[in-house]
Amino acid sequence: MKENIFLLSETKALVAEERKNTHQIIVNLREIDRLQSYRDLHYPSLFQYLLVELGYSEGAAMRRITAARMTVELPVLDEKIAKGEISLSNVNLLKQFINEQEIATTEEKMALVDLVQGKSGNDAKAELRKLKAEREEKKKGSEDETKKKQTRTVVSDESDKDIRLHCSISKKTMEKLEKIQGLLAHKNRKITLAEVIDEMAEITLEKIDPARKKVTKTVTPIKSEKPTRTVPTQTVTELHIRANGHCENCGSVYLLEVHHKRPLCDEGGHELSNLLLLCHGCHRRESIKYFGYDKVASYNKKESADIDEATLVDINIDFALASIPRQIPFELLY
Ligand SMILES: [Zn+2]
Repeated sequence: MKENIFLLSETKALVAEERKNTHQIIVNLREIDRLQSYRDLHYPSLFQYLLVELGYSEGAAMRRITAARMTVELPVLDEKIAKGEISLSNVNLLKQFINEQEIATTEEKMALVDLVQGKSGNDAKAELRKLKAEREEKKKGSEDETKKKQTRTVVSDESDKDIRLHCSISKKTMEKLEKIQGLLAHKNRKITLAEVIDEMAEITLEKIDPARKKVTKTVTPIKSEKPTRTVPTQTVTELHIRANGHCENCGSVYLLEVHHKRPLCDEGGHELSNLLLLCHGCHRRESIKYFGYDKVASYNKKESADIDEATLVDINIDFALASIPRQIPFELLY
């Protein structure tokens, strides 16, 4: 009898400890996400860090990242998670609902927190389903059925060799594709759409990929007395060749930029030994390490305001192609 009481009370204490640890992990992940510290271990995303370095399953990683980011969006969640008033699963349900229903105001979001707080997963799901039906009923009356154009792209694995790409494009784009298909048919009568896309990719890369530009001279370290801000095209090409067209820190191919190990403002030059080819994220992380978070954040503010959905779709494709597990919510991929 005594043993049984001890077992029960010990378990309760352990669960309290577990909750405390979970909350602390969320707090740490929020900071790791803000500073992108995972890049120091060569991970291209927080998600990969959680999967590989911390050994979480995809679902567990997703729940923790979403919760960490939701506490930034809704700071009140932080305390509720700490006290065990809301589970990570329910925070994820909440996030899903907010995205799907395009909930924008803090008041509405807070009302949703109240709705799922303290509920089991199933009860929370039922409440949200009910609310969704109500909202859609309301919408029906006022809106006509014009379907919002889907611009989001889903990339999924078909086999080891091929990737199936689903995306909605405008009629105009389709006409252009057909025109290209028609022109390329001179070379290959049976050219498929997939081959058309490949051909287009080749032509574009030939035109804009710095690694494909011809190096006219051998490596030419440039150490001028007053370097301009622009890195000479030839040096950029040499850098891309050295890096084989990938981020030299994490291996990503997305938005590659030239990083000066010693910045120009600190008398760094454009010589290859001072340069690294880094993806945008790793470049940002290096800048945070050198200049501090606040300075970089204020500098990047304008930049991030310019990122539209199309850019995010590109990011999605890039990471999906980089073999990150499928069915991962879009926002976790960058
Ligand atoms: Zn990188």
